[in-house]
Amino acid sequence: MHLVTGGAGFIGSHLVDRLVSKGEKVRVIDNLSSGRIDFIEGHIGDSVEIVIADLLDIDRLSDAMEGVTTVHHLAANPDIRLGTKVTDTDLKQGTIATYNVLESMRKNGVRRISFSSSSAVYGEVEAMPTPESYGPTLPISLYGASKLASESLISAWAGTFGATAWIHRFANIVGPRGTHGVIYDFIHKLRSDRGVLEVLGNGLQEKSYMDVEDTVNGMLHIIDSSDEGVALYNLGTDETVSVSRIAEIVVEASGLEDVDIRYTGGDRGWPGDVPRTWLDVGRLDSLGFEAKRTSEEAVRRCAESLIDEIGL
Ligand code: NAD
Repeated sequence: MHLVTGGAGFIGSHLVDRLVSKGEKVRVIDNLSSGRIDFIEGHIGDSVEIVIADLLDIDRLSDAMEGVTTVHHLAANPDIRLGTKVTDTDLKQGTIATYNVLESMRKNGVRRISFSSSSAVYGEVEAMPTPESYGPTLPISLYGASKLASESLISAWAGTFGATAWIHRFANIVGPRGTHGVIYDFIHKLRSDRGVLEVLGNGLQEKSYMDVEDTVNGMLHIIDSSDEGVALYNLGTDETVSVSRIAEIVVEASGLEDVDIRYTGGDRGWPGDVPRTWLDVGRLDSLGFEAKRTSEEAVRRCAESLIDEIGL
């Protein structure tokens, strides 16, 4: 039995799809704060059960560990920007939630954890593309700090209590059912004003984007390929896309004409935003994994599918 925390969320629901297609039994635990039950509704029954609970409720979480062999820990606050206004969300939903997951695992004899971390742990770095060995890791967002703290807790639990862990440092993940992020924001802006698209920053921010199907396939590939105590992998693509190019792709996908793309200026979208991220995915490549879509293809597929889902 697999336990997917945050399994009703964007990436979590795609992971559930993939596990089900492999014939696995899945339990989802999710408080539905940003997840949606309809993302996994079709599976609930034979192969998927859902526990609607908060990871901060350690008793409910502990009960959900019964019969579990592998925990895929994805639940977290997805909104990096929130940390500029509310300073304890990432601490609670990230760091403390991860402690609760690890402690419930220990008490229930569950020994395998796969964790969704982020490129945000690297902070603002010179080395591009950034390898897993880069350090010191000095995040500049509260979200990044909670991811790094969670990685440390996982490594400590593995070292002290003998768990096996896979830590996935994601680039920006995009695709159908996305509920946040730059493409989602642009579509919502176009919905409220079909003539103007406001872009935060100068548009030169440049990041790599990975399609969500490639992401969950990559995560499972890593788990199947390595069994080394704590395995640490970047997940992303070999190239980047600028925010101004994303704005153009979203406008193209919308079919709207004469949209005025306006930039608020400055080198980043908000304080704590890392303007340039590009992960070195050589370690993942060396496991024989190849993403099917480039960053630009992933962005385009996401824009088209979200416009279908949300409507303009
Ligand atoms: P998401 O918001 O769609 O998924 C998070 C899920 O966790 C949601 O279903 C939410 O309801 C649930 N959740 C949040 N707090 C919870 C709590 N305390 N108890 C129970 N459930 C809770 O976001 P996502 O994009 O699918 O992200 C999944 C994971 O991947 C997160 O850990 C995120 O930090 C990480 N990640 C995502 C990206 C990206 O680009 N989407 C990049 C790097 C890392």
